[in-house]
Amino acid sequence: MRVLVTGGAGFLGSHLCDRLLAEGHEVIAMDNLLTGTTDNITHLAGHPRFTFIHHDVTHYIYVKGHLDAVLHFASPASPVDYLELPIQTLKVGSLGTHNALGLALAKGARFLLASTSEVYGDPLVHPQDEDYWGNVNPIGPRGVYDEAKRFAEAMTMAYHRAHGVDTRIVRIFNTYGPRMRINDGRVVPNFIRQALRGEPLTVYGDGKQTRSFCYVDDLIEGIYRLLMSDQVEPVNIGNPAEMTILEFAERINALTGNPAGIVFKPLPVDDPQQRQPDITRARKLLGWEPKVELEQGLRPTIAYFAERLGIPNPRLA
Ligand code: UDP
Repeated sequence: MRVLVTGGAGFLGSHLCDRLLAEGHEVIAMDNLLTGTTDNITHLAGHPRFTFIHHDVTHYIYVKGHLDAVLHFASPASPVDYLELPIQTLKVGSLGTHNALGLALAKGARFLLASTSEVYGDPLVHPQDEDYWGNVNPIGPRGVYDEAKRFAEAMTMAYHRAHGVDTRIVRIFNTYGPRMRINDGRVVPNFIRQALRGEPLTVYGDGKQTRSFCYVDDLIEGIYRLLMSDQVEPVNIGNPAEMTILEFAERINALTGNPAGIVFKPLPVDDPQQRQPDITRARKLLGWEPKVELEQGLRPTIAYFAERLGIPNPRLA
């Protein structure tokens, strides 16, 4: 296949490029490098089946030649980023999705949308299955991301129903791994950076809110299976192993031997209290479930951040 990956220089987009190339496909990565970085794709420079186009997908997208698939992964994805870039976040989810769908329609290509567990907002149903409609505050600060992705899902289904575009929607839950930006403000890079520097971990609120963390390799496997399937309905991809943020902080401090402990900071506005994917659909339709245990995934992630911070061989418990 000849595949366009928008956000191809981002955390997930770049891992997806690697996987598609490994499967023998031709890949065009497109990114405006707002939150992505060419560092994530320099290893692909010169690859005979890889091209990079520096472009902002909120403007008309031109790609020469045929395309078999368009994978729309462009968007800020960290709460800190989308609070700093509220209008860009809304634009890439709305205008960017519209342009990417228009391109898929024009090329007769399959379209896959990177959606999010944030469509469920601060969920009143637990764990969250795909039939839950969500509990989102449209005018709160997080609304810029949540509503952009909800609009993107609606637009994707409209292109499917009105134009017959072959579409897929993946709802991605918290994912971690190498190539996350060390200062993107999300809990995994924050805690690992703080632990490696021997600083206290900043737990927001009382730390009783929960998340379920999926290692990037598992996530990419799920997305690849979804792309190759005929499943038009949204599919949750994430790891159901749920824990409180306080427990997560304690795991990181234990693993890195960080003696500095924890400090509590204010909870961000509209921070979801609990989150756990119901992956029944992914198990049934894609034969997929996560395989990587938390500690197994944290080790390469910590090694990645340690290298970025110039700490050569951190000792792990
Ligand atoms: N969080 C925290 N300390 C940090 C960063 C985040 O306690 O330094 C909390 C945050 O309030 C949320 C959870 O960790 O409850 C996950 O936050 P993240 O920004 O990674 O992503 P989210 O799941 O909220 O989109």
